[in-house]
Amino acid sequence: MIETLDLILPLEASEDEAAWKAAAAKKLGVPESRVTGVRLLKHSLDARQRAVKVQLRLEVAVDEPLAEEVTPAWSAPSLPRDAKTAVIVGCGPAGMFAALRCLERGIKPIVLERGKDASARRFDLAPILRQGVVVEDSNYCFGEGGAGTFSDGKLYTRATKRGPVARVYEILVAHGAPQRILTDAHPHIGSNLLPNVVKAMRASILEAGGEVRFQAKVVDFILDGDHLRGVVTADGEEITGDAVILATGHSARDIYRLLAEKKILLERKPFAVGVRIEHPQPFIDAEQYHLRKDEARPDLLPAARYAVATKIDDRGVHSFCMCPGGFIVPASTENDEVVVNGMSLARRDSPFANSGLVVTVEPEDTDSFAKEHGVLSGIAYQKALEVAAKQAGGGGQ
Ligand SMILES: Cc1cc2nc3c(=O)[nH]c(=O)nc-3n(C[C@H](O)[C@H](O)[C@H](O)COP(=O)(O)OP(=O)(O)OC[C@H]3O[C@@H](n4cnc5c(N)ncnc54)[C@H](O)[C@@H]3O)c2cc1C
Repeated sequence: MIETLDLILPLEASEDEAAWKAAAAKKLGVPESRVTGVRLLKHSLDARQRAVKVQLRLEVAVDEPLAEEVTPAWSAPSLPRDAKTAVIVGCGPAGMFAALRCLERGIKPIVLERGKDASARRFDLAPILRQGVVVEDSNYCFGEGGAGTFSDGKLYTRATKRGPVARVYEILVAHGAPQRILTDAHPHIGSNLLPNVVKAMRASILEAGGEVRFQAKVVDFILDGDHLRGVVTADGEEITGDAVILATGHSARDIYRLLAEKKILLERKPFAVGVRIEHPQPFIDAEQYHLRKDEARPDLLPAARYAVATKIDDRGVHSFCMCPGGFIVPASTENDEVVVNGMSLARRDSPFANSGLVVTVEPEDTDSFAKEHGVLSGIAYQKALEVAAKQAGGGGQ
């Protein structure tokens, strides 16, 4: 018999397979000796009370062996000789997953990326970290893996919109992300592991017959009436395909300007802006885990996180991208602005926590920029805030 069971265990027993077996046997009403295997399917913490409980979903085998665990893999069929081509602009998460999907469907992706590969890109972070100088096409946002490469790698969201999330996790694991993201309720990869995941995804794209070109910045579109046939790169090369996918992310403002210039339909949407706040991690741990004064966080508990949301004057305000045990990083892509983001290593062991605290901005809030910037008023408003932040901060990053 194979059963799926939900169990609640005290923290101290939650990592102990013998305790899982004992609890499973008790719940099923069978002697422990008949439980022949247990496998973790889901793991989440309930820290609402001082005595932290761990909720586990287990696959439990009784009187028969558990089927062997299948390690996630990614593969694609061989490309036909006359395969259609998709030009994918941007090698961030969206571009890379689009390329893998194309290959699964027998379409050859040609990925064009303005920045450098993940290894070379690392050297371009030094000027922004040490001298406050942004290398404009190679930074925390631009380059192989996009903003994802040095991101925190939190794979959870409060958004309710859902695609095939489980398959995305499996593809990440197939490319070197830790297996535990398949079971954690709040999966997290960590900035130190992501560059290798990104490089492995590129290797899969190349092995399956796709192309990835770095320092290939798209500066123009080749339009045939309403049809986007291809793109032109900064060095003048024209690259056409059966389809063009723009996966340039939200930092590539030049692409939005190009779209507007070419009269391609754009629409203003709500977004959020705010600040990033840093706290001592022990302060967050003490609050969230109900620790006594000077009591350290137990080793079995991860650095605590939080999420807050409220409405002020009918406007949503919420925490965003909270990074327990993390760092604040300079994520500007141009030298006249200040933009920050948060990341953490897989161990989440920095003494600080940080989180964005953001407020919703509706399209009409940016109307004062619309006269000059039209449909790009939101982007102009964002840019004005980022430039003001740079000036207010004394001009550094
Ligand atoms: C420090 C940091 C931490 C983050 N932490 C998290 C997190 O924990 N969880 C989470 O979900 N999200 C996080 N994010 C956000 C996440 O990284 C982005 O939402 C995600 O990368 C967006 O993916 P994308 O592919 O749409 O765009 P991007 O990642 O922005 O990729 C776009 C790519 O297109 C390229 N490009 C742009 N213009 C051109 C052009 N003209 N020609 C050629 N190439 C071009 C860019 O160089 C870039 O590589 C974080 C971001 C940062 C910077």
